[in-house]
Amino acid sequence: MIQHHPGEELLLTLAAGHLDSGPAVLVDAHVERCASCRAQWRQLQAIGGALIDDAEPALLETHALARTLERIDARDGTSNANGSIQRTITTPRPPLPNGAIWPRSLHGSTISRWRWMGPGMRWSRIELPHEPNASLHLLRIAPGRSLPIHSHDGIEFTQVLCGSFDDGRAVFGPGDFDAADGNVHHQPIVRDSGECVCLAYVSAPLKFDSKLAAVIGRWIGM
Ligand SMILES: [Zn+2]
Repeated sequence: MIQHHPGEELLLTLAAGHLDSGPAVLVDAHVERCASCRAQWRQLQAIGGALIDDAEPALLETHALARTLERIDARDGTSNANGSIQRTITTPRPPLPNGAIWPRSLHGSTISRWRWMGPGMRWSRIELPHEPNASLHLLRIAPGRSLPIHSHDGIEFTQVLCGSFDDGRAVFGPGDFDAADGNVHHQPIVRDSGECVCLAYVSAPLKFDSKLAAVIGRWIGM
């Protein structure tokens, strides 16, 4: 049962096509899996569509359509000069634990192999076709292991693909979404029930308490 959802403002930004590709991948991945957010997102899209129908063309943000098309391209392939869609050749992906499913929002992305970052902890870098520099990662953490204590200079979005963790604020399980900012100082600890794989987006490097963790964070790009 999904317990933690993106806020309405975030869903509205997504529905309006105004969310940057990096964070949009995570919110999309949540909406894909969460029936209640999907229903809310459809309503918000309908409201947005009605507003666009009523608006003067000149009032529309010129980049809104381009951004929406970019996101569709990113999901479904890439447009060539004639405007037709070429299916993206699927690149190899690292294996996931049993029961975990790749979100559709990662379609067309390049996803690196699993890399070691500490005992029982691995990471993978995700490059989006239209925003390759977005700080987007997969983290795969063994049961009982914890990430280093950290805070944030920007925002951190997390979408749980499988397993669960407890960061002292709450337990986040499969399908849960979390948004953390500079007010949150936490240490996610993976519960003993199984490996945890999360999608993670950060808008700015994390602020680690430990110097070693800061070095590893810089190496990974988080
Ligand atoms: Zn939800």
